[in-house]
Amino acid sequence: MIRYNLHQHSYFSDGAEAPETYVQKAIELELAAVGFTEHSPLPFETSFSLKEERADEYISETDRLKEEYKNQIAVYRGLEIDFIPGLSENFDHWYNRLKLDYAIGSVHLVKPDRSEELWFIDGPKKEIYDEGLQNLFGNDIQKAVKTYFRQVNQMVESQEFDIVGHVDKIKMHNQNRYFTEEEKWYRDLILETLHLVKEKDLIVEVNTRGMYKKRAETLFPDGFALQQIATLNIPVLISSDAHLPEELDLLFEYTLGKLKENNIHEVYYFENKNWVALPLV
Ligand SMILES: [Zn+2]
Ligand SMILES: [Zn+2]
Repeated sequence: MIRYNLHQHSYFSDGAEAPETYVQKAIELELAAVGFTEHSPLPFETSFSLKEERADEYISETDRLKEEYKNQIAVYRGLEIDFIPGLSENFDHWYNRLKLDYAIGSVHLVKPDRSEELWFIDGPKKEIYDEGLQNLFGNDIQKAVKTYFRQVNQMVESQEFDIVGHVDKIKMHNQNRYFTEEEKWYRDLILETLHLVKEKDLIVEVNTRGMYKKRAETLFPDGFALQQIATLNIPVLISSDAHLPEELDLLFEYTLGKLKENNIHEVYYFENKNWVALPLV
């Protein structure tokens, strides 16, 4: 059995508790490894990012936890790096600055062509999604979704990182209101992205957060996208994107079942600074 979570947020970004609380909870849950992946600092104010001035403290605290708990659990220091073309720092910058073990690349803020304003597609409020779709894309859902996937593609092609974060996050606030995942144009977009991911040999996380927060009816990714991941033989890992210690392994059993149903028989794991495949039993 796979007992680890490599995507979680502490109070260094938008998580609720001190990192040590997550480590202690993970030990209680008998996890073998946990990795912190705070949201990367951005060149403007946000409510969710790691603050640049706390970067050194993030390093020293995660180093302390690695050492203090080394006989009980592996602790990693990662980062969930936001990619915004022309605005975010090159991912290499953060690998060096924070001496990362690994990085997740994610898109939460979509930049339309010829606009300085950004479309926030995450967070608890679907009204923000609806407003952005209206104001920045004139309610043209295909144009908006295409802009999201183009940004993910650009990240995959231009940046160095390990894991693609919640690759189909764009569906979360849609909730089948503007499009369904069965539509051909949507399938073509996700498929194009998955082909690029495959070429770059990146891992795709299967993220349970949308489901346990009841913001999405399915996993990120699920359905057609997950079938294609199996067909293309793209490496996957399971993560909960926990913002609370209690969320560390939510829906993992369910997700393992889903993977098996889709003929995915191994998940990736981080060990001695390398990614290794572990068979699902
Ligand atoms: Zn994220
Ligand atoms: Zn996250």
